[in-house]
Amino acid sequence: MENSTTKNNPYFSRTDRTPLKVSNDEWKKILDPDLYAVAREAATERPFTGKYNDFTGLGEYYCAVCGNHLFRSDAKFSSTCGWPSFFEADKQGVVYKRDNSHGMERIEVLCKRCESHLGHVFNDGPPPTGVRFCMNSISLDFVPDADKK
Ligand code: FE
Repeated sequence: MENSTTKNNPYFSRTDRTPLKVSNDEWKKILDPDLYAVAREAATERPFTGKYNDFTGLGEYYCAVCGNHLFRSDAKFSSTCGWPSFFEADKQGVVYKRDNSHGMERIEVLCKRCESHLGHVFNDGPPPTGVRFCMNSISLDFVPDADKK
């Protein structure tokens, strides 16, 4: 799924996993304001509004900022929390950071390649992992299996 971000974004690649060092000043010129707010300023989209919340397509989820592979649709489950949820992430795709903002102790999930904010991970997910990656739809870029060459 091409979005406006992938078009004018020289850093976007679904195959290159080399870490990016790009300043927020630079990202601000490239990303749509809504994506910039979530990805670079850790804003959260409103629940039940994201394009992938109720979505069940088969395929792969990539970082909307840089194209790094994050999730496979097999790991998505219907959660009632209002954001797209996964029980497992691509280990090469994400990194974790302690987040004590908003008076909560949470674990922030970031893209391993571009260090953009994706969402948080919680310990109330389904088997087999028991974890729930609670993601912002806007941070994800879905490519259906049908489009695989
Ligand atoms: Fe990324």
